[in-house]
Amino acid sequence: MSDSAEKPAAPTRRKAGRHRGEGQWAAGHFTPLNGNEQVKKDDDGLNVRTRIETIYAQRGFQAIDGQDLRGRMRWWGLYTQRRPGIDGGKTAILEPEELDDEFFMLRVRIDGGRLTTRQLRVIAEISQEFARGTADITDRQNVQYHWIRVEDMPEIWRRLEAVGLSTTEACGDTPRVIVGSPVAGIAADEIIDGTPVIEEIHRQVVGNKAYSNLPRKFKTAVSGSPLLDVAHEVNDVAFVGVVHPEHGPGFDVWVGGGLSTNPRIGVRLGAWVPAEEVADVHEGIVSVFRDYGYRRLRTRARLKFLVADWGAEKFREVLEKEYLLRRLVDGPAPADPPHAWRDHVGVHRQKDGRYYVGFAPTVGRVDGTTLAKIADLAEAHGSGRVNTTVQQKMLILDVPEERVASLTEGLAALGLTAEPSPFRRGTMACTGIEFCKLAIVETKARGAWLIEELERRLPEFDEPLTVNINGCPNSCARIQIADIGLKGQLVVDENGQQVEGFQVHLGGSLGLEPGFGRKIRGLKVTADGLADYVERVLRTYLDQREPGERFARW
Ligand code: SF4
Repeated sequence: MSDSAEKPAAPTRRKAGRHRGEGQWAAGHFTPLNGNEQVKKDDDGLNVRTRIETIYAQRGFQAIDGQDLRGRMRWWGLYTQRRPGIDGGKTAILEPEELDDEFFMLRVRIDGGRLTTRQLRVIAEISQEFARGTADITDRQNVQYHWIRVEDMPEIWRRLEAVGLSTTEACGDTPRVIVGSPVAGIAADEIIDGTPVIEEIHRQVVGNKAYSNLPRKFKTAVSGSPLLDVAHEVNDVAFVGVVHPEHGPGFDVWVGGGLSTNPRIGVRLGAWVPAEEVADVHEGIVSVFRDYGYRRLRTRARLKFLVADWGAEKFREVLEKEYLLRRLVDGPAPADPPHAWRDHVGVHRQKDGRYYVGFAPTVGRVDGTTLAKIADLAEAHGSGRVNTTVQQKMLILDVPEERVASLTEGLAALGLTAEPSPFRRGTMACTGIEFCKLAIVETKARGAWLIEELERRLPEFDEPLTVNINGCPNSCARIQIADIGLKGQLVVDENGQQVEGFQVHLGGSLGLEPGFGRKIRGLKVTADGLADYVERVLRTYLDQREPGERFARW
C-alpha cells in the first residue's frame, strides 16, 4: 500500500499527551533517557574536532576516548569501519569494539552535489594519498572514503577546507548534507533554482550549536526540477519547486519522510514558501524537531514518528505559532514528473545553450585515479563543474556543443558511459559488508556482477528500472522505493546451508504513485541465485506485458 495513503493521526491534545514520556525537550524532559542522549549532553559532538587535532592525531587510534570513537567523531563525518574478515553472521553477535577496525570511513558533504573541478581534484588526491584510492559516490551526493587514519585528519581537513569543502556534520544527530538538484541553475525546464536556498540553509544551521544536538539525523532536500530528482519524498524535510497561481515560483514544503526499518513517505504541509524565506522555514522545522522530537528510543527518534503522530495540520500549526510567528501561504502540490528516470544521465542542452553530460559510475563506485581523470576530462572540454546525484551518478556541466562527442568518448574510455543500459543506470548499492559494521552481506561487487549478468542475458530490456541493494535491514540504498528492492540477510540454500542472500521487495516507487515495494512473503533469494531470479522476473514481464504497460510504477 502507498504510504502516502496512510491517514495521519488526528492532532488532539490527548494524542500528544500520550507521548509525554518520549523525552521531548519541549515537555521539559532534559534528563537523558539513553546512552546516546547522555553522550550528547556530556559534550557537544562538534567539540571533538579539537581533541582529534590536538590529541588523537598525535597519539593514534588507541588514545581515542570510547564516547568520542563511537559517538562524537560522527559529527565530523568519521565512523569506524568494519574489521576485515568478519562474516555477516557475526554482525549482530559481536560487541562494537570487536567489529571496529582502526581505520575510519570519512564522509565529505557536498551540499547540492555541486563540485568544481578544483574541488574534485582535491577529493581525488585525498583518496590517493590517504584512503587507499577509495572514493564512493553515495546516494546523498557525498563522497565516502575508507581506510582513513586519525593521524591524517588534520591534513585532510586542511586540504578540504582550503577549497571550500567540509566534513562538518556529515554524520551524527545533526543537519546532514542538503541534497539538491544537480542541474540547479542550468536546466532548461527548471521551475526555480534552489542553489541560493541551499547555501542559506547551510549558513544558518550547519556547524551551529543551536542545532548540533538533534534527536537523530535530519535530512534535507531542495529541488526546483520538474523531474523531482532528489527523492524528496523520503527526506525529513523537503522543499520542492512549484508555481503558485498568484505568487509565482517557490517551494512546496514536505516533512516526515524516511526509510530504514519503519519507512514513511513525507507529507505535504500544503504551504508555499518563496525562495528567500525557505531557510527561515527550514530553521523553524529543525527547531520543532529539536524541541519536540522523541529522544527516549533511538528507533523512534526520527522526525517521521512525530509527524505520524501529529499529522501535517498540527505540525504546520506548531511551526507557525511557536516558531515562525506568522501564517504560511497555502500552495499547490508539485506536478507529476514527465518520466521515470530522475538521474539526468545522458546528454542534455542547458538553458544557456551549452550541454551537460550525465554518466553512470557502476553502483557509485569510483576511485581517486578515476576522479582525477574526470576532472581532467571536464577541464579539457571547457567545463569547470562536476556534480553528483542522489542516484550515485555524476554530471559534467557547461560543455560547448562541439566538445560533447569527444567528452562522451573520453568518459566511455574510463568505463563511464553516458548511454548506460537500464541495469547500469538503475542499480544502486549501499556500502555493504566490505566496510559497514552493520552489514550482513556484500553489496557493491554483487551489484556490479548483477549488472553485467543482466546486460548479457537481457539486452532487449529497454525500460526504466531501479534495482536497489542493501547490506542489512537499514535502507541506505532506499530498497523500499525501488522496482526491485533487495534487503541483505542470511538465507538457507538448497543444501540447508546458511548463506548470504536477500529478501525481495517488488514494486516500490516515487513520483506518480509513491509507495513501498511489497515484501513478498517468504521470497528470499541466495546471493548466487540473484541474477537468475531477476532475469526470471523481467522475462516474465517481457513475455506478458500489455501494450503501454511498463515495469516501473514511477
Ligand atoms: Fe550498512 Fe546496512 Fe546501510 Fe548498507 S544498508 S550501508 S549495510 S547500514
